[in-house]
Amino acid sequence: MRLPFISGVGVVVVAAILSGCGSEPVAQVKDTKAEAAAKLQRSKAAKVAAAAKVKANELGQIPVLMWHRIVPKPATTDDRTPAKFREDLERLVKDGYVPITAAELVTGKIDIPAGKHPVVLTFDDSSPSQLTLDAMGTPQKDTAIAILQDVAAKNPGFRPVATFYVTRDMFGKSKREEQSQLLIWLRDNGFDIGNHTRDHHNLRGRTKQQVEEQIGSIAETITSLSQTKPVSIALPYGNQPNKKEWALRGPHYQHRAAFLAGYTPAPSPYSKSYDPLGIPRIRAMDKKGDCAQFCSTAWLDWLKANPDMRYTSDGDPATVAYPKFKNPFLRTSYKARSLMY
Ligand SMILES: [Zn+2]
Repeated sequence: MRLPFISGVGVVVVAAILSGCGSEPVAQVKDTKAEAAAKLQRSKAAKVAAAAKVKANELGQIPVLMWHRIVPKPATTDDRTPAKFREDLERLVKDGYVPITAAELVTGKIDIPAGKHPVVLTFDDSSPSQLTLDAMGTPQKDTAIAILQDVAAKNPGFRPVATFYVTRDMFGKSKREEQSQLLIWLRDNGFDIGNHTRDHHNLRGRTKQQVEEQIGSIAETITSLSQTKPVSIALPYGNQPNKKEWALRGPHYQHRAAFLAGYTPAPSPYSKSYDPLGIPRIRAMDKKGDCAQFCSTAWLDWLKANPDMRYTSDGDPATVAYPKFKNPFLRTSYKARSLMY
């Protein structure tokens, strides 16, 4: 047993020396077609085994959570206190979630460690309780961003990323320079800026021109302030315009997807159930009253109890890994990336 092992090492050393010269065709002689195919098969088998080991399920569902204001004294059922928001994030850490942005979700770029579950954190209406910077450019204590960054710092691997759906309210700033500072700060710190329309009107029943004006004008403002283009839109009140496509494409905007306001986890972007015209979100709230079943605590409990329904990563963003019997649900455009076990 010793001899082949030693001679194997010798081959590697010789090959390394020769390839250092840059002219000897050693690799080509050694690496025949059959060997290359065998190597590929071995690497695929290793990937399949790794995916099976963590029970990867990249056709599973992803919670897209929705917050509005983070304030000490909630005035509406949409408000959340800083303490409750911190608890929301700590629960996600405990359950093995890693945040991704809405832009990453809708472009299918989910790059998180093996065995982890993606979650999208979204904030609507651009309120100062989400982002306010002090004179040194540091997020103010108890704003959503400050809490998120704090929880991430204490829990390595929990990415401090989120998507902010912006209206003309612009985090309470009215001066162009101040608005620009905030949007550029978000961009430079890895946050995703989405479209929430200019005036937050209900788009249902409005003309095409009105819809395009509401979405297009804020898109132009965001781009002129921060040189970024929103990748997705969150529809005010979750209401779709008369023609759903108007939310995605207009003269001044091109969105990959539109998000709604309720009431279930979202399908994986690799699944046939995925519909970019209307991606559901979940309100962040405890399991009580009208939130007994359809808000975040209830759904996170459900996803934990039903791991076969939840998205679990295999750690390789280049593949879409899942148990073989789920194959009929793979979107055809992702066939080349399929890894079944
Ligand atoms: Zn809103």
